[in-house]
Amino acid sequence: MSTFAALESEVRSYCRGWPVMFDTAVGSRMTDVDGKTYLDFFAGAGALNYGHNNPALKGALIDYLQRDGVTHALDMHTVAKREFLETFSELVLKPRKLDYKVQFPGPTGTTAVEAALKLARKVTGKEAMINFTNAFHGMTLGSLSVTGNSMKRGGAGIPLVHATPMPYDNYFDGQVPDFLWFEKVLEDAGSSLNEPAAVIVETVQGEGGINPARAEWLRGLAELCRRHDILLIVDDVQMGCGRTGPFFSFEIAGIQPDIVCLSKSISGYGSPMGLTLVKPELDVWSPGEHNGTFRGYNPAFVTATAALREYWADERLEKSTLAKGDTVEASLTELVESLPGADLQVKGRGLARGLGFGKAELADRAAAAAFERGLLLETSGPDSEVAKIMPALTISDDELTDGLDIFADAVRSVV
Ligand code: PMP
Repeated sequence: MSTFAALESEVRSYCRGWPVMFDTAVGSRMTDVDGKTYLDFFAGAGALNYGHNNPALKGALIDYLQRDGVTHALDMHTVAKREFLETFSELVLKPRKLDYKVQFPGPTGTTAVEAALKLARKVTGKEAMINFTNAFHGMTLGSLSVTGNSMKRGGAGIPLVHATPMPYDNYFDGQVPDFLWFEKVLEDAGSSLNEPAAVIVETVQGEGGINPARAEWLRGLAELCRRHDILLIVDDVQMGCGRTGPFFSFEIAGIQPDIVCLSKSISGYGSPMGLTLVKPELDVWSPGEHNGTFRGYNPAFVTATAALREYWADERLEKSTLAKGDTVEASLTELVESLPGADLQVKGRGLARGLGFGKAELADRAAAAAFERGLLLETSGPDSEVAKIMPALTISDDELTDGLDIFADAVRSVV
């Protein structure tokens, strides 16, 4: 471990909570150099929805490398990219009657968000953005300007401007009608709100503490945007690719956002890849106006295509994700009911679940206790007050139950 302390920046974080050296990983299990195996309820923060080294994806990747398929290609035409685009169109967009042009903005979530914000500003000629309380959109300056967390914002070192936060669904515990404030300031010429180019929203806030917005709230937001000529950007970086059940997390609301950001699990294999999906009429970029060296990492296209073919040609994964999500919810509810007075809250949707702790520090202690028992999970929320349950969607039922038992035991040991 001294190598990391000596040579790696102080900014490292996950390794501090899990101070072991991981070496191999298969499915929902990671193994350290001492041969100890950990069950994974973290799934690469949502980048490993299909588990570690998924054989269907690995096979396609090995074949591609073996035949000297192009690895790096900026935005040149390649066979791997063509196959990805065609498969994405056939298996994801067309069945959902979605019409988007695909932009490859760079390899991460934050680059997908930056492209979305830039394009929204270019299309509308406006600079103001609306974001939501407890939102998380990434660490580069544009994404950070629409992110809520004050510690992360502080890291910018400059004022973060041009975004106005609005209350996310249930911010006032249902005491204030939805969009009361948002509608009022949009319609009041004296409100001082700059006319927004776009609203950016997560359908379930992952980093913000596993806060799900209701379908009717999302529909209300889309309608408000439509009435006021504001573009709607859904950041599906963490909740997309099936995390909440359907491929896109906004499908439950029946809305069609103007721009959608995807990353994390789109490559399926944990390889860097990002997409910004844009309604065709908004695709007003000039060639090269937005670019980046790593927009064409072809091995990621290969595994992305394999993942779509393996998991999105039918409804099996979606259904099993919803069923597993119900299992998690039932287990967490039972745990909470068995600990009256512990001030715990069950949160989430699909396989994006969380347990909120009234006493914030207990969530980190529960995560540490879980680690001691061989289970990996992280915390989220402004005070790290939510233990986040995000296993791979492909986790087996036995592994899921084992992990939930370990988690319950860990929680009981700290409350
Ligand atoms: N948007 C959302 C909703 C996210 O959860 C994240 C990452 N946690 C990002 C954007 C940023 O992604 P990346 O870390 O790949 O830049």
